Amino acid sequence: MTALIIAIDGPAAAGKGTLARRLAALYGLPHLDTGLLYRVTGRRVLDAGGDPTDVVAAEAAARGIVPADFTRADLRGPVADEAASKVAALLPVREALFDFQRQFGDGRGAVLDGRDIGTVIFPDATAKLFVTASADARGERRWRELRARGVAAELAIVTAEVRARDAADEARAASPLRPAVDALVLDTTDLDPEGAFVRAMELLAGVLPSSLIVRRRDAG
Ligand code: C5P
Repeated sequence: MTALIIAIDGPAAAGKGTLARRLAALYGLPHLDTGLLYRVTGRRVLDAGGDPTDVVAAEAAARGIVPADFTRADLRGPVADEAASKVAALLPVREALFDFQRQFGDGRGAVLDGRDIGTVIFPDATAKLFVTASADARGERRWRELRARGVAAELAIVTAEVRARDAADEARAASPLRPAVDALVLDTTDLDPEGAFVRAMELLAGVLPSSLIVRRRDAG
């Protein structure tokens, strides 16, 4: 049987990560937050005193990633967001990270969240969800996350940054952010994490093999 791959794509702060973790736990699959690969790459370029738009430096940083990079404490926040978005626009960086993502899911199955999982990394995924929400709702969520971490930030500025990052992700030539033609769209604007999980299970019930369909009361 081919491995179960659930691809979750969508713009920043739409609720992909929380949903991906819950679905991974539900199906007993490993989860990969692919945004971390780009965040680590951006950070490594900055550490070396480089410019995240420098393709040679960024590709070398992507190829040099080691496991300890993922435990860094500085992978979130505006500086890491911007560096990740810049290195992610470079095709050689995306190519350098392709095999790692494929191998993560091949064989055993996985839930992966990102921007191009259903379009480029696993175009043959078992199920594809495109998780989105209004820019205002996403800006507010990101602002609340920052405040919860003790970071002082202005809602209007955080929302503008989220919009700018999405616009860059959508406009780039290399793997632009867009729903796969066969993606199921989940709009979380008016849903809390639990509501998004329930709706995701409803959507997945239409595409997963019947042995994998989990009814609400069994989902925990
Ligand atoms: O998901 P997250 O916000 O951590 O992603 C950070 C940045 O990495 C995104 O703004 C996007 O530019 C890039 N990214 C990407 N492809 C992915 C995951 C993230 O281009 N699969």
